[in-house]
Amino acid sequence: MRGVVIKSTGSSYFVMSDNGQKMECRLKGKFKIQGISSTNPVSVGDYVQYDMIVGDIIGVITDIEKRKNYIVRKSTNLSKRQHIIACNIDQAICIATLAFPRTSTGFIDRFLVTAEQYHIPAFIVFNKIDLYPPDLIESLDELIEIYNRIGYKCLITSAITNQGINEFNDLLKGKINLLVGHSGVGKSAVINKIEPSLNLKTGEISSYHLKGQHTTTFAEMHPLSNGGFIIDTPGIKEFGMIHIKPEEIGGYFPEMRALLPQCKFHNCTHIHEPGCAVLTALKENRINASRYENYVNMLSDEGIEKSKDWE
Ligand code: GDP
Ligand code: ZN
Repeated sequence: MRGVVIKSTGSSYFVMSDNGQKMECRLKGKFKIQGISSTNPVSVGDYVQYDMIVGDIIGVITDIEKRKNYIVRKSTNLSKRQHIIACNIDQAICIATLAFPRTSTGFIDRFLVTAEQYHIPAFIVFNKIDLYPPDLIESLDELIEIYNRIGYKCLITSAITNQGINEFNDLLKGKINLLVGHSGVGKSAVINKIEPSLNLKTGEISSYHLKGQHTTTFAEMHPLSNGGFIIDTPGIKEFGMIHIKPEEIGGYFPEMRALLPQCKFHNCTHIHEPGCAVLTALKENRINASRYENYVNMLSDEGIEKSKDWE
């Protein structure tokens, strides 16, 4: 039988079969030795083959399909081994808001760089639209235009008026979705709109992510009735940029990546180099100043290790 791992406790795995049945499974011994480079050989999002022996209530995972991607928790000083948080992610969605607590473009751009780095398609959802006064609506329109032009699709939602909730539902349909966003932007509220049965607690304290933090260090996937999944990770820090060299960052800004071939130096960092096509484009307003500023800030993120705190 084939299914996808929706929850792991480290020794037990909960697998949802292709026909929607949930089953607890254990690993066949041999995988334990194979998983040398990671502390967990199977993670949430893994597609597995498993056997059920008639009369048994626990299945046995016999094979793990090749992963298309995975996100890791940065290793601690003590361990060189990585912990895989989730894999086979189809898309990453940043839930943001220009209302309180306002999401900075610095946060959004770091999110986008990380998604580019992991080769995961990225989307931005601006929530709490019901709270935006006219001037914020104007800022939002400008922001969305900037991101659309680079190739990122944006949605506008409200968990209060239901604006955009159907589009959000369509976006998640049939996909493994990673949701990222500050506590308080409304992740739980918009998910509840799509899947009321999940009944996630909303409010600053017992929010989606904080809740995850003290219950488990393992991610969990919530199956949606639209056929999709939402990954519940213990926090946004898990989606921080991984080892990245300063000269690589520009490659994760699609609008800069497109101009690099026109820069005089192939390893141009677009800061001080003569003949830099990005700097020219910036002067001519073809590159957005705020995106560029966030790029420069990322460069000084001290080996980018510090970037696990995006604020
Ligand atoms: P999370 O931490 O991202 O999961 O955020 P929550 O879903 O817990 O929402 C935080 C607070 O914002 C709660 O009080 C929600 O009721 C409120 N909220 C969420 N979405 C919206 C929205 O679209 N509009 C308004 N006005 N409030 C919202
Ligand atoms: Zn350049």
